[in-house]
Amino acid sequence: MYSPATDLGYLLHKHPSRIQSFDLSFGQAHVFYPEASTEKCTAALLLDVDSVGLIRRPRGQFTENFALAQYVSDRPYVASSFLSVAVARVFGSALSGKCKERPELVKTEIPLSARLSILPCRGGDKLLRRLFEPLGYTIEAEQHALNTHFPDWGESRYFTVTLQNTCSLSELLTHLYVLIPVLDDEKHYWVGDAEIEKLAKHGNDWLAAHPEQESIVRRYLKHQHRLTSQALTQLREKDGQETHKTTQAQAEAQIEERIGLNEIRLVAVTEILKQCGAKRVLDLGCGEGKLLPKLLAERQFEEIVGMDVSHRALKIAQKRLHHDRLPEKQKERIRLFQGSLGYRDKRLSGYDAAAVVEVIEHLDLPQLAVFERVLFEFACPRKVVLTTPNIEYNVKFENLQAGYFRHKDHRFEWTRDEFQSWAVGISKRFGYTVVFHPIGPAVEDIGPPTQMAVFTREDGGEGTI
Ligand code: SAH
Repeated sequence: MYSPATDLGYLLHKHPSRIQSFDLSFGQAHVFYPEASTEKCTAALLLDVDSVGLIRRPRGQFTENFALAQYVSDRPYVASSFLSVAVARVFGSALSGKCKERPELVKTEIPLSARLSILPCRGGDKLLRRLFEPLGYTIEAEQHALNTHFPDWGESRYFTVTLQNTCSLSELLTHLYVLIPVLDDEKHYWVGDAEIEKLAKHGNDWLAAHPEQESIVRRYLKHQHRLTSQALTQLREKDGQETHKTTQAQAEAQIEERIGLNEIRLVAVTEILKQCGAKRVLDLGCGEGKLLPKLLAERQFEEIVGMDVSHRALKIAQKRLHHDRLPEKQKERIRLFQGSLGYRDKRLSGYDAAAVVEVIEHLDLPQLAVFERVLFEFACPRKVVLTTPNIEYNVKFENLQAGYFRHKDHRFEWTRDEFQSWAVGISKRFGYTVVFHPIGPAVEDIGPPTQMAVFTREDGGEGTI
């Protein structure tokens, strides 16, 4: 909790006891505080879009393109680019992270909640989550029926959405400013080069690392090819390789998405860790922390450690876990730290089990040789659960070009024989036994999409491990 919550008034430059109204080119915006106490403070931004004025706008600025559009437009009633414009106009200083009176507040991370009464989401709940979850938001979304009198007409594209995050107010506002029109996939004004600058300004700190970067940019720039590719190039230049890797990770996820492979894999790994009775577990190369919430949900795991070489990935993992908001007891169970599997690391000693999910294929062969010793000789947990792609299965991915790996950062992908002989070699050298499990729907002669090896230390000591 943050106290006094009324500091929101300083951040927004709007006094909680006043109602203020602002004229905009398309109507009016009103700001007022339905509640303002030390514990909780809510500022409301009410948009009153002039629906008659809207119809009179010049052609081409009109958003819907069917015959009755001007009479049945949703624009006055939904969160859209009108709202983004109003945010910039009414909360301009807060949006750009300025606060003259209390500058120290600007960077302060506060538990914030934003409620959007009606948000059009072209792409539905799925896209909503894909846009906001990587930024650390918890999302509540209620989808509205197209017509409550005729339920069989199905769902509309309108949602009531509550987003929660612990972040600075300017972060929250910039995310809303950019992503509301992206979800709506529409803008009420002409989009030109200036829009790239706006995107660069407001997406500065977060867009380059966002897994949905491409679709955000494309939609934000109204699908204009030239602007989109220019903006993406700028972002990539700015963020260098990291951006590239992120987009590639997304590409891999997309390739595997159709068979829900990621989820199947994580469930299989969690199950093995559970069955072997492990209490203290490592997730090595934990990435953005997809496995960690599953482990945290199992009380059996008393100590969970996520390690990755990428600081950026760890930051996302931390947000995904809502680490700062976890109850004290949960927080004590989980730890994230930066480290490389290319170095012997004392912090990895003494654990019951380690998960290494889709990591080895990112190591080149000399690094892989070091990793083998780091894990099996020095850290030597009693159980190791390790997964990697089965290259034989790649022909089954329609959207993967022949001869390509699933991810550009992969240094290799192995056949079942290659993987098994590597794993058997390791088990012999370091005193483990190994068994193999298919993950995902196996195909005759080709095998499963993912292969998993489960290593057990031969002198494993007591217990079921
Ligand atoms: N296990 C995660 C992430 C897989 S992607 C999941 O299943 O979602 C591979 C991860 O390995 C990346 O996050 C990358 O940063 C990490 N990685 C690559 N080389 C590494 C190294 N030498 N040490 C630790 N992590 C490494």
